[in-house]
Amino acid sequence: MASTTFLTLPSGKRMPQLGLGTWLSPPGIVQGAIEFAIKNGYRHIDCAYLYENEQAIGEGFAKVLKECPVKRDELFITSKLWNAYHAPEDVKPACMESMKMLQLDYLDLYLMHSPMSIKNVKGELMPQKDGKILQTDVDYVDTWKAMEKLVDEGLVKSIGVANFNKCQLERLISAARIKPDVLQVERHPFQTQKTLVAFTKSKGMAMTAYSPLTSPESPFLSGLKNGMEEPVVKEIAKKHGKSPAQILIRFNIQCGIATIPKSQTPAHIIENTKVFDFCLTDEEMKKLESLHCGARAVPWDLLGLGTHKHYPFSKDE
Ligand code: NDP
Repeated sequence: MASTTFLTLPSGKRMPQLGLGTWLSPPGIVQGAIEFAIKNGYRHIDCAYLYENEQAIGEGFAKVLKECPVKRDELFITSKLWNAYHAPEDVKPACMESMKMLQLDYLDLYLMHSPMSIKNVKGELMPQKDGKILQTDVDYVDTWKAMEKLVDEGLVKSIGVANFNKCQLERLISAARIKPDVLQVERHPFQTQKTLVAFTKSKGMAMTAYSPLTSPESPFLSGLKNGMEEPVVKEIAKKHGKSPAQILIRFNIQCGIATIPKSQTPAHIIENTKVFDFCLTDEEMKKLESLHCGARAVPWDLLGLGTHKHYPFSKDE
């Protein structure tokens, strides 16, 4: 990587602003992608139990830490607590299971994947009955208190949340002993997250933008255009001699937001790092922001959670 920048989290830890996403990277391919990315300068990798590839990623970490002059403490590894493990007694076992698969003895960041708890049924990620996901009503504040204990025990350096709205975040912050370091949400020019960007900044929290390239492979696309084919993005890319993907990544970086584009393609993995050697003008940033239409690549209601008590996207976001 030509260079990278870091965000300082409220806990004092530093998070590389650019990372590699791993959702939809198949186990047979993700190991090679991880090794290639770390060898080419990536230091921040975004994982999750839900993605069903942590075992393969762990093999990649083990290989790269053995073969390359990269030390564990130079890497920033995130995993996420899946919705089925929100009951306080399930939190530590779920974290340990991810750490075991990732072959790590600590995580740099552990995120609650969403505020919506579902039933813990052994061996099932999305337990259903009569075609409906089995929702439960565990309070995310209780889940958070169990996550705080992971920090106390040294299993994770930082904790945060994903897919929370502003009201939920405010409630969490007022109840928390350890404040969330990071909010991870979908962010790109079609979903600029104006309210949450301002709110997290006011609290000194870091934001990580997921689906920064508008997630063209997402199985949940509900009319969202591929941002890399958007004429405004293409025009700005042409002007800077950059690719549309680089413009979309830069859009977040330049706002002081971390971002984690997913790629399993070596040429893309390298291309996506070349975003620190140019600046978008204020006018270009405004043009990109004006594309906001509120569309989402990962709407969560299509997962069958739109009726959940803690569904985050229907309230003030
Ligand atoms: P992205 O917006 O990162 O898009 C990924 C897609 O873009 C892939 O098809 C990839 O193909 C393609 N791509 C990557 N680089 C380029 C390039 N330079 N040129 C052209 N195409 C490119 O989608 P994701 O939804 O995967 O989001 C990123 C990450 O965010 C996830 O992988 C995951 O880690 C995290 N995430 C978190 C969520 C949460 O709820 N907390 C929800 C969704 C995502 P290829 O692989 O061939 O390069």
